[in-house]
Amino acid sequence: EGFLPFEHEPYFSFGDAAVAQQQQEAYRQVRGQYVGQRFSLIIGGERVESDKTFEVRNPADTREVVWRFPKATPAQLEQAIGAARAAFEEWRFSDPFQRASIFKRAADLMRARRMEFNAVMGLENGKNWFEADGEIAECVDHFEVFARETLRWAQGKPVYPMPDEHVTTVYEPIGVVAVISPWNFPAAIPLGMALGAIAAGNTVVWKPASETPLSSYLLVELLFEAGLPRNVIQFLTGTDDVLGDPLVDHKDIRMIAFTGSKEIGCRIMERAAKVQPGQRWLKRVMAEMGGKDPTVVCADGDLDAAASGIVQAAFGYAGQKCSACSRVIAEQSVYDELLAKVVKLAGELKVGSPEDNAALGPVIHAGSAERIMKYVEAGKQSARLVLGGERADSGEAQGGYVQPTIFADVDPRDPLFQEEIFGPVLAFTPARDWQHAIELANDSEYGLTAAFYSRDPRKVEEARRKIHVGNLYINRKCTGALSGTHAFGGYGMSGTNAKVGGPDYLFWFLQTKTIAQKY
Ligand code: NAP
Repeated sequence: EGFLPFEHEPYFSFGDAAVAQQQQEAYRQVRGQYVGQRFSLIIGGERVESDKTFEVRNPADTREVVWRFPKATPAQLEQAIGAARAAFEEWRFSDPFQRASIFKRAADLMRARRMEFNAVMGLENGKNWFEADGEIAECVDHFEVFARETLRWAQGKPVYPMPDEHVTTVYEPIGVVAVISPWNFPAAIPLGMALGAIAAGNTVVWKPASETPLSSYLLVELLFEAGLPRNVIQFLTGTDDVLGDPLVDHKDIRMIAFTGSKEIGCRIMERAAKVQPGQRWLKRVMAEMGGKDPTVVCADGDLDAAASGIVQAAFGYAGQKCSACSRVIAEQSVYDELLAKVVKLAGELKVGSPEDNAALGPVIHAGSAERIMKYVEAGKQSARLVLGGERADSGEAQGGYVQPTIFADVDPRDPLFQEEIFGPVLAFTPARDWQHAIELANDSEYGLTAAFYSRDPRKVEEARRKIHVGNLYINRKCTGALSGTHAFGGYGMSGTNAKVGGPDYLFWFLQTKTIAQKY
């Protein structure tokens, strides 16, 4: 709290020609500096190579290999966990003010390089300028928020007094945290988890998604540059047979902080529950998983605002966000009008390369496009296709381009309504009335985000109480959570509700010691 006031990092105005030119220049610089390079692992503060490497390809045109990363060996995993354990014995006693100052310095370093980070991410996961900028600005916010949270948690909490005993409650770090992250937010998501761990005084084994290692690697180097002792984070890339189960199962891992699919999250939960020989604790698992996020539109809602919010939330980054709107549930009386507005706006989205800041870029890879198209083909039989429904033409480029696709009259039991598709596919379902719309919104195993459009305080009150999600947005889109303000994490099968960026997040990475002293 010594760092007030706080302000969210403002976004760039790419509509301004000079700013757009800077972003293009950053792409040129990144292409010159990084494309074709081979990067390393980081273990015990040293850059380490491996005999085998893997390629990272540009989703905008998968013929282009942008850079390479090592495939870590089982011995390197062992070394990394050993190095993290050794570093923990020192870092656990580090001064919280030192940690907070490192994060503040990192925020400043990052501000100066935002466009570079945007371009690296664009080349790895196909985010256009706006989407990348949102995520990189969130990284700056994370640094600022975690600096403050570090100091806040270092203060401990008061207890009810007891005569003749001095009693304190203090929070202590827990050990080595494995950070495992997805490709769709390759900077802000692993950074949030790693900062939580480090802010609390833990050390980290950081395993990024294989599609997007450079967006993570540059953050680790930036933290070192800001003064983080180089042995506090071990950075490992490679294949799941070496870095998946073996990392999760390892007896010296104290906690797994995971964000990704439901399938892998559930697998980690189950495996981590088994106590391994020599393991001296019960592992803690943070698992933040998928979503099937609804937007509910009541008859009295602002239909233009809703349509624009829906289109941004459903088709921003081609629908590849856990928070993306994938279901619209509208009252019968406004259903057709809303559908027409959404179809019109979505139909205007230009498909193209993220490097040129096209509104709708490719999905992450060809396999993902094929998986999405299976849902689309099945949907053509079970629902009414009103927009898209085909792969999109991307000229020469080879990539997972899919047209913005909308199905109407989707049955709540249809996979289009129940399963996370993770692509630019939106399902519309009519509701008898607004209470029925809330029921339909809750008809999901997931519970991550939801949006609710109404101007009636009574309906809004009911929605606030009844909609079963971790992040509920009233009269605004369901994407775009800001660190420090919209603590993020879901209900149900969306995961453990860790609430990154929120006031309780650091508690996940701490244990509590009560000390009672007589004099
Ligand atoms: P994923 O397939 O589950 O992969 C996530 C991470 O887990 C990757 O680093 C992956 O490594 C690793 N992994 C794979 N197998 C593993 C194993 N057996 N043990 C441990 N780790 C393993 O997810 P994704 O496709 O990258 O991301 C998309 C999913 O993430 C969607 O479901 C989305 O909703 C969810 N998501 C949730 C949130 C949230 O906050 N709730 C935020 C963003 C995304 P490799 O890359 O090397 O395979």
